Amino acid sequence: MRSEESKLPPHVLIFPLPAQGHMNSMLNLAQLLCLSDFHVTFVVSEFNHSRLLKHTGTHSALKKYPGFRFQTIPDGLPEDHPRAGERAMEIVWSVLKFTGPCFKKMMVEQELFSSAGRRPVTCIIADGILSFAADFAEERGIPLIYFRTISACAFWAYFCTDRLVEANHIPYIENGMDELVECIPGMEGLLRCRDLPGFCRVDDPNDRNLWNIFNLTSQSVRAKALILNTFEDLEQPILSNILKHVPRLYTIGPGNAHVQSRLREDKADSSTTSASLWPEDRSCIDWLNTQNPKSVIYISFGSITTVSREQLLEFWHGLVNSQQRFLWVMRPDSVMGEDGDRIPVELERATKENGYMVEWAPQEEVLNHPAVGGFFTHSGWNSTLESIVAGVPMICWPYFADQMINSRFTSEVWKIGLDIKDICDRVVIENAVRELMEVRKDEFLEKANNLARLAKLASSEGGSSYNNLNGLVEYIESFII
Ligand code: UDP
Repeated sequence: MRSEESKLPPHVLIFPLPAQGHMNSMLNLAQLLCLSDFHVTFVVSEFNHSRLLKHTGTHSALKKYPGFRFQTIPDGLPEDHPRAGERAMEIVWSVLKFTGPCFKKMMVEQELFSSAGRRPVTCIIADGILSFAADFAEERGIPLIYFRTISACAFWAYFCTDRLVEANHIPYIENGMDELVECIPGMEGLLRCRDLPGFCRVDDPNDRNLWNIFNLTSQSVRAKALILNTFEDLEQPILSNILKHVPRLYTIGPGNAHVQSRLREDKADSSTTSASLWPEDRSCIDWLNTQNPKSVIYISFGSITTVSREQLLEFWHGLVNSQQRFLWVMRPDSVMGEDGDRIPVELERATKENGYMVEWAPQEEVLNHPAVGGFFTHSGWNSTLESIVAGVPMICWPYFADQMINSRFTSEVWKIGLDIKDICDRVVIENAVRELMEVRKDEFLEKANNLARLAKLASSEGGSSYNNLNGLVEYIESFII
């Protein structure tokens, strides 16, 4: 090794799946490593990179990290692919098939992304579902660490798919959706079949998608370590089970709270660095400024969920009938059906009287706004953690994948919300909103505030996630000694 190179910091390549939730949590990790003076190359799809450039100040916000840079790569999908709703999983299959070979070629041609002032990649931190990263790392002898962007409980349930099939929970036609699942260690008697990850909702126990997801999860053990965006106080019993199967486990979450705590420590500019793929409509903050404390319920179903026109109307009637003020995120591509992405005119008009609607919100800022007292969410893992950090109770209407189990934990384990999965009915929605925002408001808020306190403690000096990140940094440093 040249002597100038030996003085350079570690260079980590971070490669998330090109989807909003995956990018957000891995961008938090990128910031944490930059704050440890590492060099970071962050891989984004060309499609998402052009959206980031168009819509947000992401690039200027990241200038505070001189060691950070983006690297673009094709995702293999046509420009006009919806990348949402029922076709969202096509991103995964396309990246595995198309982007994997591009990645290998790029790494070799660009000599592991070395450049003046930057050593070749010391270590790859890849999204845990990118199996080609393990193939490449093994071939080239480069250390690989996997990052799974889902909760520990969801990861563990995916990991136990073979046990679920063995116990005849998949398919679960015979005893129905409410049969209790006893075969996942650490969750005995907690889950009903309907709370299992969405991929388990299949008629055929040999379903290809189901086993693909299982294989992508079980191959996590090929990496030198696994990072999860969670914290010990939140998911300890599950983490103990995972630890029996992975060589090293680093829980460093909640990522957003952790970045804030490290920025405060560095006395650095603590404005959040968002990587929103849609333009954030900040007018909703002005609207929230005019509302009473804890009076508004925020509704957002993340970046992938789509709803039918009928479901949209049930939500809207339920919300209006509850007589609560609401702030609703409706992405331009959230409504499916004959009318494509058009929002019904009657809904838009009436919303003006009862609440406020935007196409994309600065979510973390919204959740931390004093006017927000509840979150109607699809239980995506980032949204769940952001709500936990902000101390905001939730109504959960999960759409697919890990969200089914996150919502069960939200209501039955952490007891900071209500899970109304599989029901989209205006009366149920009205009652749930009233229960969260009025009837059981104090009870939920007390629990949510307590969990928020634990989340912040975990990511502050001396906390479990804080210490684990220090351990991870040392571990990566050990690769160049
Ligand atoms: N988000 C946002 N503005 C919105 C809606 C969502 O910034 O109006 C962000 C949110 O803060 C979260 C991410 O998008 O970080 C969604 O990730 P999540 O895991 O919750 O769900 P997914 O989009 O993957 O289904």
